Amino acid sequence: MSNNNNSVHSIHEFDFNLICEYFANVERQGPGSPETTIKALSFIDNLTEESRIADLGCGTGGQTMVLAQHVPGKVTGLDLFPDFIHIFNRNAEQLGLQDRVKGLVGSMDNLPFEKESLDLIWSEGAIYNIGFERGLNEWKQYLKQGGYIAASEASWFTDERPDEITDFWMANYPEIDTIPNKVAQLQKAGYVPVATFIIPENCWTEHFYKPCSVAQENFLKKYAGNPTAEKLIAGQRYEESLYHKYKAFYGYAFYIGKKI
Ligand code: SAH
Repeated sequence: MSNNNNSVHSIHEFDFNLICEYFANVERQGPGSPETTIKALSFIDNLTEESRIADLGCGTGGQTMVLAQHVPGKVTGLDLFPDFIHIFNRNAEQLGLQDRVKGLVGSMDNLPFEKESLDLIWSEGAIYNIGFERGLNEWKQYLKQGGYIAASEASWFTDERPDEITDFWMANYPEIDTIPNKVAQLQKAGYVPVATFIIPENCWTEHFYKPCSVAQENFLKKYAGNPTAEKLIAGQRYEESLYHKYKAFYGYAFYIGKKI
C-alpha cells in the first residue's frame, strides 16, 4: 500500500475506507512470498519458545502467519488499519495460531513494546511508512542486545536509471537508495549487517500483482462510475506498468541486521 501517513490522514474518510476495502481483498498488501519470508528467516538464529517477535506494518498478515509457522515464540502483528487487524486475527484463528499470534492496531512510530523486550523485529514492505533510517534507529531500542531486524525495502539496483522511474520514486519515496547505501545505514544505526538479498520477481508478479488484478476487476465492478475507486485502481495499474518496464533498475531487497 503506497500511501504514506500524511496522505492517509489528509484523504477523506470515505476514500480511506475504499482504499482499505480494496487492500483487504488481496492476500498481501506488498510484494513478497512465503519462500522469501522463509529465506530471510534462515539468517536468524537463537529463537525459542520464549522469543518475542513483532511484525510491524503487518497488513492482513500474509507473511506473519508464514513466520509464525516457522519459528517458536510469540508474534505480535501491528498495523495502523483496524480492518487489516481484524482480518489478521481471523486468519490467525483459522490457522490455529491464536495463542501465539496476535494482531494489534497501532502505529510504527509509537510502539507498544517494552524497551529491550524483542528478539526479532520483522517488517515486509512497510518500513517506508516511517522511513528506513528512522525505523532502524527508533526500533532498535525495543530489541534485546543480539536481537534481529529483518525488513524489506525499496532499493535501486543500479547507480543510474531512466528519468521516468527516478521521478516516480522521488515523488513517492525519495528515501529509496542503492543496496550498498542501505547496508551502510544499517551498520551506522548499530546493527551488524548479517545478510541482504533482492526478493525475486515472482514476489511482485505472481504473489502481488496477479491477486491484485483479480481484486481490481471486482472492485471496479462494485464501484463502477466512482471516481475515487477508478483513480485508486488507475494508480495501482500505473505502478504495475512501471514495474514491468523498469524492473531491471529497482525492486525490494531484504535487509537483515543484528543489534550490537
Ligand atoms: N507487510 C504486509 C503489508 C505491507 S503494506 C505485506 O507485506 O503484505 C504496508 C502496511 O503498512 C499496510 O498494511 C499499512 O496499513 C501499514 N502502515 C502504514 N502506516 C503505518 C504506521 N504508521 N504504523 C503501522 N502500520 C502502518
